[in-house]
Amino acid sequence: MSGKVWLVGAGPGDPGLITVMGLDCLKRADAVVYDRLVNPLLLKEAAAHCVLIDVGKRADHHPIPQDRINAILIEQANMGREVVRLKGGDPFVFGRGGEEAEALVRAGVTCEVVPGITSAIGGLARAGIPVTHRDFASSFHVITGHLRDGKDPHNWRVLAQLDGTLIILMGMSRLADICQQLILHGRDADTPAAVVMNASHPEQRTVLATLGTLAQESARAGMAAPSLIVIGDVAALTLLQSL
Ligand code: SAH
Repeated sequence: MSGKVWLVGAGPGDPGLITVMGLDCLKRADAVVYDRLVNPLLLKEAAAHCVLIDVGKRADHHPIPQDRINAILIEQANMGREVVRLKGGDPFVFGRGGEEAEALVRAGVTCEVVPGITSAIGGLARAGIPVTHRDFASSFHVITGHLRDGKDPHNWRVLAQLDGTLIILMGMSRLADICQQLILHGRDADTPAAVVMNASHPEQRTVLATLGTLAQESARAGMAAPSLIVIGDVAALTLLQSL
């Protein structure tokens, strides 16, 4: 008997922001393999017989190598289980969901994807920030702040020329550098910019500043991961809501 893996997006944090299809999978699963960013409250939805496997990467622990996570998914499916791989936000937005799907396909394991609300859009929405707005932004660009093998994957000159909304995930440890790069390459230091921490959770916090002051203001307010960095005129609309 061969099982199946569902790559399910858990949404940005609030358990109400998983999809109906995702919740359905979770309730039926025999095994759930979950990440650190998944709200533990969602795990309560799993059946009593369901095996819960934590593969979350913690700052104080060595991360579980991606190969090991792939192997766990394949093992679980080969035991004939219905496996939910529960990932924060959307599984295909910076979550290595693509790599997991590839590994499953290679191993001959049936796999299905249930999209989720990405923090990049839904997280900002919960902070009252629309990623587009006819008067302020006609495009949005989601980038990672993470360095790959110590190298910066971005062309900051090109990114600084874009006048749409720029959303940076995994960027908090490099916030000052990111803002500086954008200013150096021509983006106005007065551009509204914000950091939204723990978006959609009860402890959500937002700091609104400008590109020139965001790093300092954010540090002063003690903002840390997981946070979204948003640069562009729409960031100023944060003020319109008290969420
Ligand atoms: N697949 C996820 C992103 C994974 S990368 C998604 O679609 O949302 C992890 C990064 O996402 C974090 O470092 C942070 O930048 C962002 N993130 C995820 N959840 C968040 C939340 N609730 N609040 C703020 N940022 C969040």
